[in-house]
Amino acid sequence: MTRVNRHLEDITAAKPTVFWTDREGAPGPYESLVGEHTADLVIVGAGLTGLWAALHATLEQPGRSIVVLDAKAVGFGASTRNGGFCDASLTHGLWNGLRHWPDDYDTLERMGHQNLADMQVQLDALGIDAAVDTAGFLGVADREWQVDDLADEAEILRARGREATLLDASGTRALLDSPTYLAGLRVHGGSVMVDPAQLVWGLATALETQGVRFHEDSRVTSIERQGPTLEVRTEHGSCRAERVIVATNAWAEPVRQIRNWVIPIYDHVLMTEPLSEPQRDSIGWVEPFGVSDSGNQFHYYRLTRDGRILWGGYDANYYAGNGMGPEYENRTASHALLASHFRATFPQLDDVAFSHRWAGPIGTTSKFAATFGTRHDGQLAWVAGYTGLGVGASRWGARVALDLVDGIDSERTDLALVRRKPMPFPPEPFRNTVIQYTRKQIARADENGGQDGRWLRLLSAIGVGFDS
Ligand SMILES: Cc1cc2nc3c(=O)[nH]c(=O)nc-3n(C[C@H](O)[C@H](O)[C@H](O)COP(=O)(O)OP(=O)(O)OC[C@H]3O[C@@H](n4cnc5c(N)ncnc54)[C@H](O)[C@@H]3O)c2cc1C
Repeated sequence: MTRVNRHLEDITAAKPTVFWTDREGAPGPYESLVGEHTADLVIVGAGLTGLWAALHATLEQPGRSIVVLDAKAVGFGASTRNGGFCDASLTHGLWNGLRHWPDDYDTLERMGHQNLADMQVQLDALGIDAAVDTAGFLGVADREWQVDDLADEAEILRARGREATLLDASGTRALLDSPTYLAGLRVHGGSVMVDPAQLVWGLATALETQGVRFHEDSRVTSIERQGPTLEVRTEHGSCRAERVIVATNAWAEPVRQIRNWVIPIYDHVLMTEPLSEPQRDSIGWVEPFGVSDSGNQFHYYRLTRDGRILWGGYDANYYAGNGMGPEYENRTASHALLASHFRATFPQLDDVAFSHRWAGPIGTTSKFAATFGTRHDGQLAWVAGYTGLGVGASRWGARVALDLVDGIDSERTDLALVRRKPMPFPPEPFRNTVIQYTRKQIARADENGGQDGRWLRLLSAIGVGFDS
């Protein structure tokens, strides 16, 4: 069998379903919104942002009536499809944060760590078992040019008081054995691993107990002013409220303006069958830390509690016109490419099969971090665009959105990240052309020793970045 056929066979055998939600335990189903309703606060989108916003609002103002509407189902979007890396960073990592918000970075870092710590306390208090693992993170270099990048990162992390150990090839391979590794950076603290579905489902169940009303299959089509309130309309119903938070992330609706700043990028994931003991021994992976390689286009991977490897990233795709839908979730070429990279990284696991494959939409901005906005004299606030690090940041983003909609001036709302929008994406057809061209240039930079070409340098100079 040729290698190409092998990888196609690999992924054909895998179930085209999100592993995390392929089990019992989902809350609901909740009835769709029919008829006329009222609430104090309507939240559009029942992903992590919407759920955290509902939780903050409930705990801080008990008695506030809250309605959460989702076009499909609770956690339908990125929130149950992700890798479960829950990082303290609110800025898509250290470098990106220092580059775009140097003046606020200390504050953003402090808030990010506080957010992660508070989240764990809150989950414990609510009795939500999100399968949190605190083993931290391992960054690996599989190209010579990435070794220096890891060394720079180790230095700056240590200067900021973080526990970061630079490892040579053998030190890295002692923690996790791949013949491709040249160096590693082991970081303790600042990130945990979670089970995304257990987190989302746990939050929704806790909120239902607190009296929050959920409606699924309730796509919001418009939000308009009706006197002192806003009317949130779906196909079969409406809900009037004084305050509305829009948390639809990559969908960038029903507030059309969000599309100026947020685009959907489809990210792909594979899950293996549980590894046998000899298979696990062959790679020596004991501690459940998250791993990522260090190219511009990178893979992220982790262990699950039942001993599988989740393997995702690298080939992230944009479809013209902010294209979204199930037709983009099953891209054979992307999954086969991921399978081939997995086999090359862990040749010892040649006999391990993939059980699941899926994809999901990442909402991204030109600065790779969430952006915020208000409408209707501040009675509506929206937040979207966490890029690949929204599991932890969505809790903070939800907090900011609540501040904005409640008209609270806080240290959070004063941040440049909150007040200033990133550079907008151009309209179509230029949007698609620019993004596809940029993707090619990023791949070329990875092949070219990490050296950005002229186009990427130009983007960087005008404050725009782009990676997977
Ligand atoms: C494959 C993949 C891997 C990822 N891995 C990681 C990771 O390991 N770590 C990390 O930190 N981040 C990761 N992310 C990103 C992270 O999952 C997201 O940033 C985060 O879940 C965003 O949450 P959200 O609630 O804002 O959006 P979503 O979870 O996408 O929720 C938006 C919701 O809005 C609903 N909706 C859309 N339009 C409407 C409408 N008109 N009316 C009503 N409802 C509507 C959708 O149905 C959806 O449920 C990953 C994302 C993907 C796709």
